[in-house]
Amino acid sequence: MDTNITMHFTIEELCASKTADKLGIANKPNTQQIINLVYLTAYVLEPLRLAMNEPITISSGFRCQLLNQKVGGVRNSQHLKGQAADICIKGDLNKGKKYFDYIRYHLPFDQLIWEHDKNGTYWVHVSYVYRDFGKNRHQVIDNLEKK
Ligand SMILES: [Zn+2]
Repeated sequence: MDTNITMHFTIEELCASKTADKLGIANKPNTQQIINLVYLTAYVLEPLRLAMNEPITISSGFRCQLLNQKVGGVRNSQHLKGQAADICIKGDLNKGKKYFDYIRYHLPFDQLIWEHDKNGTYWVHVSYVYRDFGKNRHQVIDNLEKK
């Protein structure tokens, strides 16, 4: 049974990972990490979902240490805390830019990154820090290649 955070998002989909499945990594968030996922979803992902009026696919949300290592995440990645999500755009760059701009101009966030890998796969990375746990830097990075 999946656990809904908001109308359109579940804890399970924010912890799902093909790499974790393949390698048998449990990728289970603790209470604080779940709280961070809830805030990220309530303040950013669900408002984006409602504004776009279409399903939003998350390719990577929470990552435990081992999973973060396996996918080559940076050491201090906000994915480790449950504060970040990668929004899959399935090769539709216009859609990606629409999501990116909507978050940029209408929603609160800590870091917003238009990110891609060497193979030309693009996604939108967004993070959010609830005010009890720190400050949102409101940092926008326009074209980052993930090494
Ligand atoms: Zn990310």
